[in-house]
Amino acid sequence: MAKNRIAPTHEGVHEDVNGHNNGVVTDAVATATPTVTPIPAPIIASAIMPITDPHFPPGDVTPTDQSHRESAYAVAQAQLDIVADFMELDDDLRLFLRTPQRELIVHFPVQMDDGHMRMFTGFRVHHNMAKGPTKGGLRYHPDVTLDECRALAMWMSWKCALMNLPYGGAKGGVIVDPKTLSLRELEKMTRRYTTEISPFIGPERDIPAPDVGTNAQIMAWIMDTYSMHRGYSIPAVVTGKPIAIGGSVGREYATGLGVTYVTRSLLKQRSGRTLDDASVAVQGFGNVGSWTARTMHERGARIVGVSDQYGGIYNSKGLDLRHLLRYMVDSGTVTGFPGADAINNQELLELDVDLLVPAALEGQITKENAGRVRAKVIAEGANGPTTPEADQILNDKGVTIIPDILCNAGGVVVSYFEWVQSLQSFFWDEGEVRRAMEKKLLDNLDAVISVTVRRKCDLRTAAYAIAIERIVEAVKLRGFYP
Ligand code: NAD
Repeated sequence: MAKNRIAPTHEGVHEDVNGHNNGVVTDAVATATPTVTPIPAPIIASAIMPITDPHFPPGDVTPTDQSHRESAYAVAQAQLDIVADFMELDDDLRLFLRTPQRELIVHFPVQMDDGHMRMFTGFRVHHNMAKGPTKGGLRYHPDVTLDECRALAMWMSWKCALMNLPYGGAKGGVIVDPKTLSLRELEKMTRRYTTEISPFIGPERDIPAPDVGTNAQIMAWIMDTYSMHRGYSIPAVVTGKPIAIGGSVGREYATGLGVTYVTRSLLKQRSGRTLDDASVAVQGFGNVGSWTARTMHERGARIVGVSDQYGGIYNSKGLDLRHLLRYMVDSGTVTGFPGADAINNQELLELDVDLLVPAALEGQITKENAGRVRAKVIAEGANGPTTPEADQILNDKGVTIIPDILCNAGGVVVSYFEWVQSLQSFFWDEGEVRRAMEKKLLDNLDAVISVTVRRKCDLRTAAYAIAIERIVEAVKLRGFYP
């Protein structure tokens, strides 16, 4: 099992996951003093796809064949091209938006516990800064590549613009399986990576946040390292940090709760349905997947299948989430959970359910498996889980896809609130955070839906068109320097 175990910072959500109301993550309910019940830590992701990357360091990790893996950056560019055609976007602007503005690659040494030195490689990409400093997650995963960071940075630009946040998009990562490091090694690696990328980040420059394989503790180390170099505390350099050092209440579960808010509202508008008794399958049971499952379950949904990198489980009557979350703390995986059948990740994606929530990595629903997906609605908790070819197949089948830049935007929305609170040293209560997040998500969902009606397009095209129009407006107003 995992060599390290980072204490999670689960602030604020203090409900019984089986829906017994102990102060559930309800909809915009103010809770002045949240009590904290220990909740299982999301497990840290590890390898699923091997890697061959031109930037792989001459280190002690052997790259494996990754030729079967579709380029995330090519997918992101293809998605942009589809919308650029739809919008009849000027070619110069299209070229500008297809290209990240800055890319940093760092190779750095870390002395391991046994005394030997290991070289690591990390990245930080800034896609576009027309609307403000860049914002985006930091991923620790063995398959991180520059290509992937470019794609994720681009998707962050669209997501921030769609939410009308004063940010551009960024993304970073280190090629590492964090579960193979001790806590001390993980801290040293994080501090050295922060030092290497420190000219690139800052509250007015670029603000990292947690993503796959990173969490609040890692954000705390980044914040501390950056602050040490400057000689005073600079909490606004990261978001998703612990509340005790300037984090926001509600950030830990914001992405999952946001997926639930957006999905519930869309279901209601499209089919008059509620989440009550809706059957749900969730791929990936980390931060986003587990909080989506919990918050949907609290609103009546039946979570029939979940999976992680080791495999999946299924029970048509619904999984006992409370016990599952406890089980995960002990075992580090959902697999082997009593009272459920074992399934693999492919089978999970193809379950006959009302709702499928991909909440693991990009490129999971492709032209190979899209034809076999039976869910009526796909709520993209992960970034980039569906390729453009799969989009086409699913759209033709009448599947509703709630696109990532809309569906999982709750995380960056509350990160924005955290950044504002850190800059002002003035903190909001949990009810304010949830109310403001819900409003931001649902206002922008309404904007997207009205574009689908007006311009006769799917949700992804509408969401992208709004986001790109907003960025283009900023670019045109600022002009091309010099
Ligand atoms: P995490 O590290 O907390 O969890 C990732 C989960 O995915 C783990 O359960 C892991 O076992 C599982 N996983 C990995 N490979 C898998 C595979 N092939 N099949 C099934 N499961 C697999 O990460 P997270 O923060 O929950 O991020 C998940 C996704 O959501 C990513 O795409 C991320 O970019 C996106 N996202 C995260 C946030 C956030 O606030 N953390 C916000 C928006 C989007």
